[in-house]
Amino acid sequence: MLRIAIQKSGRLSEESLNLIRECGISFIGSSLKLKTECTNFPLEILFLRDDDIPGYVADGVADIGIVGQNVLVEEGKEELTVEALGFSKCRLSLAVPKSDEYSSIQDLNGKNIATSYPNLLQAFLDKQGVQAQIHTISGSVEIAPSIGLAEAICDIVSSGSTLISNGLKEVERVFKSEAVLIANQELTQEKRQVLEKLLFRIHAVQRARKAKYILLNSPDDKIEEISKLLPSIKAPTVLPLAEEGWSSLHSVVNEDDFWEIIEKIKAAGAQGILVVPIEKMII
Ligand code: ATP
Ligand code: MG
Repeated sequence: MLRIAIQKSGRLSEESLNLIRECGISFIGSSLKLKTECTNFPLEILFLRDDDIPGYVADGVADIGIVGQNVLVEEGKEELTVEALGFSKCRLSLAVPKSDEYSSIQDLNGKNIATSYPNLLQAFLDKQGVQAQIHTISGSVEIAPSIGLAEAICDIVSSGSTLISNGLKEVERVFKSEAVLIANQELTQEKRQVLEKLLFRIHAVQRARKAKYILLNSPDDKIEEISKLLPSIKAPTVLPLAEEGWSSLHSVVNEDDFWEIIEKIKAAGAQGILVVPIEKMII
């Protein structure tokens, strides 16, 4: 049985649980409980505060975990990283009151900066050659300037709307973050095997998220030209249509290249193009 630590309730919880579900792993229970056993995979889920996850995984209380890189690196545990998961993308940024004049990072020399990420901030300031006083607070960092605690803040930003509503402006990006899967470095052989199985499923889910299955009708004399425009795992599937002179082509395209490909194959004579989501993809 492998134990995974995920955030009990917060910005990482929903997507962490979704990933486990999309891997075809079922569990009963809600985040009201501290832990739950999965019913069809040797996995036990522990629900914890995100700050505690790197420590628990490092100590082996949990075998693996999902946490933001910001928390992981802040706690100096990046060596636990297995791989990035592509969700909960955000950045750690410096912000100052909107009305302040700001021309460069040097303007922060001698200032007080409030943050929940003193280590990440200190490393950034050192690299920039800036000396400032860091005030570590655990939450509501964005109100620090308005209550006179600090002249600047360093906090997590995604859209920037929280900064704006607190009369602040983003002036420097300190760190880029996303959710990562982490693992204890001394897993037993058996646990390692379960982790490999889980990773196999995670990769299938991640690949499928980006891929679309595409079906289209092509005049037979255009099959070659259209096939060349379609990326595919091996080669596109070609099936004859009931109507003489026409075939159906099936393939898989990446979401990022999707619209460009559609335009090209349409111009080449493709008709009746259908695009459908893929649930899992194993190559
Ligand atoms: P906990 O109670 O577990 O300590 P928390 O309040 O410290 O929770 P959350 O605000 O839920 O943490 O954020 C958890 C993680 O999600 C952050 O460490 C960061 O990696 C990521 N995150 C935070 N804010 C955002 C956002 N606006 N968009 C995307 N990801 C975010
Ligand atoms: Mg936290």
